Amino acid sequence: MNPTEAARLLADVEAFCQAIRPVEELCYVEHRFNDQVLPLARQHDILAMPLPREYGGRGADTVTYARALARIGREGTGVRTFFSGHTSIGEYPILTWGSEELKRRYLPAAAKGEKILAFGLTEPEAGSNPLQMQSTYERRGDHYVLNGVKYLISNGGICDAVVTFAYPKDEPNGRISAFVVDRGPGFESEDLTAKMGMPTSNTAMFELRDVKVPGSNLLGEPGNGFRIAMGTLVSGRISVAAGCLGVIEDCLAEALAYAQAREQHGKPIGKHQLVQEHLAHIEMDRAAADAMVMRAAQAKDASAADPGNRDLARQADIAAAQAKLFASNAAWDAADRAVQVFGGRGWSTLYRPGRHLMDVRVCRIYEGTDEILRLKIASSLLGKEYEAYK
Ligand SMILES: Cc1cc2nc3c(=O)[nH]c(=O)nc-3n(C[C@H](O)[C@H](O)[C@H](O)COP(=O)(O)OP(=O)(O)OC[C@H]3O[C@@H](n4cnc5c(N)ncnc54)[C@H](O)[C@@H]3O)c2cc1C
Repeated sequence: MNPTEAARLLADVEAFCQAIRPVEELCYVEHRFNDQVLPLARQHDILAMPLPREYGGRGADTVTYARALARIGREGTGVRTFFSGHTSIGEYPILTWGSEELKRRYLPAAAKGEKILAFGLTEPEAGSNPLQMQSTYERRGDHYVLNGVKYLISNGGICDAVVTFAYPKDEPNGRISAFVVDRGPGFESEDLTAKMGMPTSNTAMFELRDVKVPGSNLLGEPGNGFRIAMGTLVSGRISVAAGCLGVIEDCLAEALAYAQAREQHGKPIGKHQLVQEHLAHIEMDRAAADAMVMRAAQAKDASAADPGNRDLARQADIAAAQAKLFASNAAWDAADRAVQVFGGRGWSTLYRPGRHLMDVRVCRIYEGTDEILRLKIASSLLGKEYEAYK
């Protein structure tokens, strides 16, 4: 993406962020879904930032897209999660593994906001180990029939189509395949509302009951589903890491402003050295998270430029895991410190640090828990024979 196009995209993202802020704050306090994210994102043409222009996208490279998501992350993890679900793990696998016909059918519509996407891998009994999933598919003539339950799916209650995964029925040694499934007969979703944070975003479970899926909606080859899921998570983890960078940036801005405005013991609290310690800590985390997110985004761009290169793919995979693990923990700590700087007001959803604290905690869980990412990073150093789980 050339610098002029990148600047235009980031300006559109900035305009979206300014428009969404008051709506998001009101929805958060009233604990309800923010139904303005989609129309405003559509208005500013940011529903398919990294897609090529021929599919209705903006053609952003991963570095530019990560900057955009960091900016959106400042408005809240719930707002950013919508984009991760729709674009980073929704559009991405269709673009990467879909047939030309499938791309034409879904991507321009997703870019225009006519089709909202989600990614359904997790099941009630299959989280960190997706291979434990119980969903099945069966080939019947020119279509597939899918059955199963997917759990904790971002955008799962508002999506028009979902990239999802299932085992072949009655094939004990069969491998998982990936499908694009439309909401329609047999597809039923239920919103999950008893959440610790992100009240303004949609998280749902859905059930597929004898859902008919056209044969052409298979992604990649039969049996390639696990590879597609893991490849998609590289894109997803960079999006989470970038969003967490935005959370840190916002916590820093809020804590700095408050430390200069609030006076106790006869001076601004920013003149108390123990308060300065929090600010310095958040700033160090911001700088480190920024470097790790950009490194992961660059690694992903390098890998995308040379798709057959397995070393580059591996580097991107590990860099994304490292960035996500680091940035999500740093964002949690930054939000905690910003709450502390705000004192009693910090412990409230009326102020930004408290909302960030509640929301960003999930970033240490979804798209690979802290533990799973640590094990992945360690085995990348030790070698395959040291993998702590199969
Ligand atoms: C708000 C939200 C949105 C989400 N969005 C999506 C989505 O869009 N799509 C989707 O598919 N999923 C989504 N998820 C699901 C998420 O990816 C899973 O919750 C996550 O992968 C963990 O799975 P689990 O909850 O089943 O926990 P479990 O896998 O049961 O893990 C429980 C604990 O055990 C630990 N653990 C498990 N195995 C090991 C091991 N081998 N070694 C060490 N520790 C281990 C875990 O790290 C964790 O601490 C979402 C979750 C949330 C909360």
